[in-house]
Amino acid sequence: MNQHQRSNEQVRRGNLVRVLSALHYDGPQSRAELTRLTGFYRSTIAALVAELIDVGLASEALPEERLGVGRPSPIVAINTHIVGIVVYPDVDAIIVAVIGLGGVVHKRVRRSMQVGHTPEQTIDVIAEVVTDLHAEFPGPYRFIGLGAAVPALVEAPTRTVTLAPNLGWSEVPFGEMLEARFDTPVVVANDAQLGAIAERQFGPGRGVNHMLYLNGSAGGIGGGAYVHGHAVRGYRGYGAEFGHIVIDPAGPPCFCGQRGCLERFVNRGELLKTMGTPSLDADEFERALIDNQDADLAREIDRQIDWLGDGIATLISSFAPQLIVLGGFLSSLFEARPERLRQRIAQRSFHQLAAHVELVRGGLGSHEVLVGAGERIFETVLTNPAGFGENRAR
Ligand SMILES: [Zn+2]
Repeated sequence: MNQHQRSNEQVRRGNLVRVLSALHYDGPQSRAELTRLTGFYRSTIAALVAELIDVGLASEALPEERLGVGRPSPIVAINTHIVGIVVYPDVDAIIVAVIGLGGVVHKRVRRSMQVGHTPEQTIDVIAEVVTDLHAEFPGPYRFIGLGAAVPALVEAPTRTVTLAPNLGWSEVPFGEMLEARFDTPVVVANDAQLGAIAERQFGPGRGVNHMLYLNGSAGGIGGGAYVHGHAVRGYRGYGAEFGHIVIDPAGPPCFCGQRGCLERFVNRGELLKTMGTPSLDADEFERALIDNQDADLAREIDRQIDWLGDGIATLISSFAPQLIVLGGFLSSLFEARPERLRQRIAQRSFHQLAAHVELVRGGLGSHEVLVGAGERIFETVLTNPAGFGENRAR
């Protein structure tokens, strides 16, 4: 191949990625829509669609409903039968899900666990569920990888769970353990970082270059940051631990070694305690927050909103984001007092930096971590669709 042919080949591969991305993120479309979306010639789209169909990543069919007059255009769709398994171990349960290309959650299974389950016990339960899922999703479904979302510090290069305080795990080579058991490519990542990926690609963060994401779970507050469209990762892949911004150095101790961290104050458990209930599902919890007829609960919500606003004000000074997305229970807390949170942030922030920040709820609800893990599983396919065909041929 000479230099000219090589650069043509590079352009063609880039165009293939562009069309596959359009199908993955924007859903099924006609060739005309793809032409408009990508700005490519119709003939280019025809060739690229043919190639995606040939490698098994897309299909084309007439729409089921024929509305209006004239010949309907065939619709090109990504192959949602290309799937990954996502596992999400939490304190008292493990979630296992089947995620397809296109960000489709095909199935979600929750298995209750004893508090204190070890990594080995976790993997045994995952193996049982995965066996069932393989039976439930036979060909044409094709499993191409496994992604673990862990509420933990995860060392990216080694896929080690450095510290998962709620699970009681430390220095667990979880990626290696999963790969040895399941013989498939494995990614392991912090759950909130995955939630951030999902909200940036499929949620309100689409097309936004400077975005922060804060996620509140039973275990604490995690996050993700995008600067110039790139996910910010610190040394060894750590970072965006927004729950550990110190709000009050004289506050209660935190497992991280500090006192008075944001997540000790803005805390789902404290809200539940004030409601007088040990647990509620996400929808019930949100309704209880929004109703808040009880004076004690109303006061606790106000306090948590104010602390959250103080934490966010610090982040605005550090990152100057355009958009802040709130996920998990923070999204429900925000829904209970949107104006109070906006005002608190405005009062406590560097004014010029805060003036244009948009604050919104996540768009994917309880699916965000699963969809984010799917993005990591599908990364190799989405960035090199031609390679997917080559792998298949082997
Ligand atoms: Zn802390």
